[in-house]
Amino acid sequence: MSARQRAVERFAAAWGGRPEVLSRAPGRVNLIGDHTDHQDGFVLPMAVDREVWLALRTVDDPRVRIVSAEEPGAVTVALPPEGPPQRGWGGYIEGVLWSLGEAGYTLGGWEGAVASDVPVGAGLSSSAALELAVALGALAASGQAPPDDGVLARLAQRAENDWVGMSCGIMDQLAVTAGRAGHALRIDCRTLEHTPVPMPAGVAVLVLDTGTRRELASSAYNSRRADCDDAARRLGVAALRDVDAEAVAAAGLLDPLGRRARHVVTENARVNAAADALAAGDCAAFGRLMSASHASLRDDYEASTPELEAIVSAAAAQPACYGARLTGAGFGGCAVALVEADSAAAVAAAVSDAYHEATGQRSTVYVCEAAEGAVVHRRQE
Ligand code: ADP
Ligand code: MG
Repeated sequence: MSARQRAVERFAAAWGGRPEVLSRAPGRVNLIGDHTDHQDGFVLPMAVDREVWLALRTVDDPRVRIVSAEEPGAVTVALPPEGPPQRGWGGYIEGVLWSLGEAGYTLGGWEGAVASDVPVGAGLSSSAALELAVALGALAASGQAPPDDGVLARLAQRAENDWVGMSCGIMDQLAVTAGRAGHALRIDCRTLEHTPVPMPAGVAVLVLDTGTRRELASSAYNSRRADCDDAARRLGVAALRDVDAEAVAAAGLLDPLGRRARHVVTENARVNAAADALAAGDCAAFGRLMSASHASLRDDYEASTPELEAIVSAAAAQPACYGARLTGAGFGGCAVALVEADSAAAVAAAVSDAYHEATGQRSTVYVCEAAEGAVVHRRQE
């Protein structure tokens, strides 16, 4: 059963009757450009064909009540939320409602249900999908048109940063709002300018989940980020986006700052070259840039792990694979590979086997296509 149908069923089971509004928000995967967003750099994600659906109906109470097909319990949020933030998945709902209030929207109450086929914590950003489904649903419930994609993405990012307490860049939320079917999205994380780049025909994207999650991932993330901020300060710029590889080399930064900065500036250059390669249908060139990105994340940014190495080499060894790299924050989690579509299932099986052989661990592979960004509609009765 589709996530949409499950959301409607869950709604009926929890609240009775039928929803008035349905919103849908996809997950996303980043094809290239990691650890560049916090330096105002460039990224190239795409929205994927897995999605969170929210079904809701307005109520007269100034509060939101919501259930999830994936999480236990019902969450209740008073409007406007006052805090302290709820723990668990309710924090995402509350954070979005808080962030909309901070932005000046007056919201009415509703009851709702979510259902999703975006795996949680698997690198496909189920959190941003949930945030955007809730943001669009909450606005529609009070009869308000959503702001443009960049503003909406910032609102959802603020919920995650300042309410849930997860520092993430703008990529996830903007990919989820502005994704276009059949396209990747080149995003300038400073201006939020985003340009759809057509995916060539005959390719598929594999998300390769190593199944590992690093406990120290967020402290490692923060310490790398601090290195980059420090490097930018020493270079006298607002963010590493403002310098190139020559400027970083000439500055003679001490290790590890020099290597962290080199990753960011070379990764920015790779993203732009990769967007051009994709637009030209040059998958081989795109794949080489993915491999170079991975090497930079491993050697200069030091964000790889033995499991990520095993899964990336397993993918890269497949003749039908153009390129593979770790994706997202690293320190565990997922890799992404660009493969010939006809061989996607065979590559997925071969990678799973090779990864199990090398590490003794089980991976999960998701075959993804580029999908349309988040939308909302009022149900036609
Ligand atoms: P991801 O990489 O998938 O975004 P995160 O840890 O950032 O992983 O976010 C996952 C969290 O988002 C879950 O722990 C849960 O709180 C929330 N979430 C995601 N999808 C759902 C859902 N369908 N129902 C309820 N909560 C969800
Ligand atoms: Mg997330």
